[in-house]
Amino acid sequence: MSIAICPGSFDPITLGHLNIIRRTSKIFDEVIVCIMSNSGKTNHWFTPDERLSMVRRATEKYPNVRVESRQDILLAEYVRCFPGAVVVKGLRAATDFEYEFQMNQVNRNINPEFETLFLTSEGKYTFLSSSIVRELAFYGAGLKGLVPDELIPEIESKAKQWRKAQNG
Ligand code: ADP
Repeated sequence: MSIAICPGSFDPITLGHLNIIRRTSKIFDEVIVCIMSNSGKTNHWFTPDERLSMVRRATEKYPNVRVESRQDILLAEYVRCFPGAVVVKGLRAATDFEYEFQMNQVNRNINPEFETLFLTSEGKYTFLSSSIVRELAFYGAGLKGLVPDELIPEIESKAKQWRKAQNG
């Protein structure tokens, strides 16, 4: 059975992420979406449990996709739990490529079995990132077409909390 792992912070999940997950689910028998914390991004908006719940709701229509959250382990170590599994990542632009190329080398140094497959982003999502969504939400812009509809109220409510915290 072929297994793919789609890792990320998903803070929050966007339609760009979902596009990669859906396309991966057509290629592999099973897809494990793993919510991890990027230590370089210290100011996450959503807790790991909130992100887990949001990604689960966004992917429940895909029967071969399951979602896990691991905050205690490096991706290169996590993939050892699934022998033969391949990591699938989305590539938006040359800047993504440079970062991902470097991370791939680091991961292969830790675990020589580590393999990454890259899917290019679909045109309309090449500009889309979780940080853009957070920025737009913070200033009250509409999120339709950027994140799953059912998650919009939750993201807007979180934005309100952040605005309140910032403005006192
Ligand atoms: P990280 O915090 O590890 O960068 P993200 O949650 O930002 O994780 O992204 C996880 C994965 O999803 C990465 O492989 C990233 O390239 C991919 N991704 C994010 N946004 C898009 C998009 N709009 N189109 C394609 N891939 C994307």
